[in-house]
Amino acid sequence: MIRYRKDTSLLPFNTFGIDVKADHLFHLRDRGELAEILAHPAFRIVSEDMSNMLILGQGSNILLTHDYSGVVIRNEIEGIRLLEENEDYVVLEAGAGVIWQDMVAYAVSRNLAGIENLTLIPGTVGAAPVQNIGAYGVEAAGVIVSVTGFHFATRGWLTLDNKECRFGYRDSIFKHELRNRMLITSVVLKLSKVLRPQLGYGGIREALAERNITHPSLMDISDAVARIRRAKLPDPATLGNAGSFFKNPVVGEKELETLQRSFPGIRYFRQDELYKIPAGWLIEQAGWKGHRHGDAGCYDRQALVLVNYGSATGEEILHLAEEIKRSVYERFGINIEAEVNII
Ligand SMILES: Cc1cc2nc3c(=O)[nH]c(=O)nc-3n(C[C@H](O)[C@H](O)[C@H](O)COP(=O)(O)OP(=O)(O)OC[C@H]3O[C@@H](n4cnc5c(N)ncnc54)[C@H](O)[C@@H]3O)c2cc1C
Repeated sequence: MIRYRKDTSLLPFNTFGIDVKADHLFHLRDRGELAEILAHPAFRIVSEDMSNMLILGQGSNILLTHDYSGVVIRNEIEGIRLLEENEDYVVLEAGAGVIWQDMVAYAVSRNLAGIENLTLIPGTVGAAPVQNIGAYGVEAAGVIVSVTGFHFATRGWLTLDNKECRFGYRDSIFKHELRNRMLITSVVLKLSKVLRPQLGYGGIREALAERNITHPSLMDISDAVARIRRAKLPDPATLGNAGSFFKNPVVGEKELETLQRSFPGIRYFRQDELYKIPAGWLIEQAGWKGHRHGDAGCYDRQALVLVNYGSATGEEILHLAEEIKRSVYERFGINIEAEVNII
């Protein structure tokens, strides 16, 4: 029997802690249940362009701005299984509803390298390819072999290999052509038995040095990342948020030079031939860090994170985000884009 609820609050299902209602909510715990969902009378209201259907994982990258008059499918497909193993690597298939941190803990405890820098990113394995989650110099794209899911238009199953996913910075095909059109049910990951630590980002090396660790294990790296993240980012269990609200804008060399002439202290870091400007720095310079309007605020320890101090509505948080975006543009001429999915 599928779990289905009508006219139900989505408050427990989004980390911003926004209390809006959905007309119809299905919990998908098994691939086999999909046929039942598609045949359910409530599913008939879903329009051909799927614009009134929302696929949900843990709701840690969405901002709900109104009651959802449509169908929500929450992915809860569990399970991690071994597909292939040799002396260098393992290939694993994880259900899309597996909690990402459980996947990281599974890998780290078995000495399988590749996702230790992605420790403590909230959400599900199924959402990881959607925005190609990344942190501390590592992206999910680096370990994803393929992504499988149900394609609503053709009513068939689809598997995309890494290249076909068209991964980019917080981007993939699942945010464009396949947005809402494919429900990801499993992801295949390749993890290495050979440790190639990436310690050069965000203070990992320093955090290890504080504990006199010179030859870190995967567990040491994962612990260091967890400590850094806990010190910097609010825990959604106590303060509603969806992590970084905006993406870091990317500019070319010429644009950077122009910006440097007007703002000599501008921060940037190089990525291939381009330069990323930390959006948090721009927002802080524009004077928003720690700003609070009602229960909607800009986090006082990291300006990139917008927070819900209690009963802010999604619209109030969106309004604050728009004000921040406008003021960053007025000050720097830079357009910052939301990383969070606005629904
Ligand atoms: C405190 C905090 C810290 C964070 N830190 C980081 C970070 O360091 N790096 C980073 O990249 N992100 C970070 N995030 C953002 C978030 O954790 C990731 O985007 C995560 O992958 C979202 O997973 P989710 O299951 O909650 O997805 P949701 O928020 O439920 O969904 C996100 C999007 O993916 C789609 N989607 C979800 N599941 C599926 C599926 N099975 N099939 C098809 N589409 C689907 C949804 O429709 C939606 O568009 C952070 C968030 C928080 C709250």
